[in-house]
Amino acid sequence: MSADILVEGGTVVTLDPERRVFVGDVLLRGHKIHALGPTGKVRPRRVTQTIDARGCLVLPGFVQSHVHLCQALFRGLAEDQVLLDWLSEYIWPFEGAHTPASLRASARLGIAELLLGGTTCALDMGTVKHTDTLFRVADQTGFRLTSGKAMMDKGHIRPGGLRETTEESLRESLRLAKRWHNKSKARLRYAFAPRFILSCTDELLRTTAKMARELGCLLHTHASENPGEMEAVRAATGKDNVEALHALGCTGDNVVLAHCVWVTAKEQRVLRETGTHVAHCPSTNLKLSSGIARVPDLLQAGINVGIGADGAPCNNRMDVFTEMHLASLLQKPKYGPAAMPAQTVVEMATLGGARLLGIEDQVGSLEKGKRADVVVLDAKKPHLRPVVDPYTTVVHGARAGDVRDVFVDGQWLVRDGELTQMDLDDILGDVEREVDGVLARAGAVPRMRRP
Ligand SMILES: [Zn+2]
Repeated sequence: MSADILVEGGTVVTLDPERRVFVGDVLLRGHKIHALGPTGKVRPRRVTQTIDARGCLVLPGFVQSHVHLCQALFRGLAEDQVLLDWLSEYIWPFEGAHTPASLRASARLGIAELLLGGTTCALDMGTVKHTDTLFRVADQTGFRLTSGKAMMDKGHIRPGGLRETTEESLRESLRLAKRWHNKSKARLRYAFAPRFILSCTDELLRTTAKMARELGCLLHTHASENPGEMEAVRAATGKDNVEALHALGCTGDNVVLAHCVWVTAKEQRVLRETGTHVAHCPSTNLKLSSGIARVPDLLQAGINVGIGADGAPCNNRMDVFTEMHLASLLQKPKYGPAAMPAQTVVEMATLGGARLLGIEDQVGSLEKGKRADVVVLDAKKPHLRPVVDPYTTVVHGARAGDVRDVFVDGQWLVRDGELTQMDLDDILGDVEREVDGVLARAGAVPRMRRP
């Protein structure tokens, strides 16, 4: 039996129902949190390894509600574009050129970045093919991943590597769900992922919604991101995006819609009444010039909102701290300085994400019996002192580089700022090799060579 681990003497920000914050200890046993409490309250009774967390913040692992690990390899390769051009001229040709080896390199790069920055869990959208590779990488690295293959059975601009019929798309999705949903002590989960309404037939969306519900899986798609996309959706369906999805059965408490920048009051009602979740991706919405989601209105309406960095080529960092900082700042000019207080934002990036994934009984807060997904953030830094309110320190001060230790399911995956289960040099070497292969296969201009 492995030793218990005692994270000792940190400021513990629990996010539990009472939102307790105390200086004390967290005891990890196996893959769960065994006990926690103020200094002196937790008494380990077995062989225990102690981690000194004095001067640190101890937080639940962050949950990102929308990412694309398959795009980590394309960071910096699709700059200054608007959404539909960004997709059709860059991202789809690149995704279509993925091999299992390049996808593996991309997923390992993405997971390394997420873990080092304190993200322990993510909802991911894969590309059309090679989805087993994503799950295998998550399995090997210890990361907590919900993912699914992108479904795309419509549209004339899809490159060869992304083409599939309705039947192929459904069959492969079903196979993957059966293979991966709730595997590795439920650390891996499957989410059906029709890419967005413009690349999916009505039949695909209707059948997928039914299939996801029957199998107890999420349905994860993009909606109402950008004005050009909204116009195209209206031209194709005669409806606004969320309304069109609703008519096809693609709303509900197992549905996550990324973005929702341009939802009407009527669509907001649909989101609320159906319990549909929203993944807010502020950096991406700014970088692709899409707009600013009216998150305070969504929260006010009782809609659950999580936070995600989206893909590396539209952000370009998969850093939850950047997203939290922006999620707060963005709303203040319009809604006033009290909008999006730091605690609300931390809740979105922990409990909100867990709720959206349907696993709030397992992650999202530090509570006895929950999974041991824990982040130790080193607050002994000039840019973080003095710590007055820990939520403010996290949202407005902290950076990914301040993360010192990360546990997922009790596994110590980042120790003193270094990955324990992944070889970073090996990952970066793979990236250099595989990105050139993708560009060559996609027929794209070779990237600029750095000396
Ligand atoms: Zn996305």
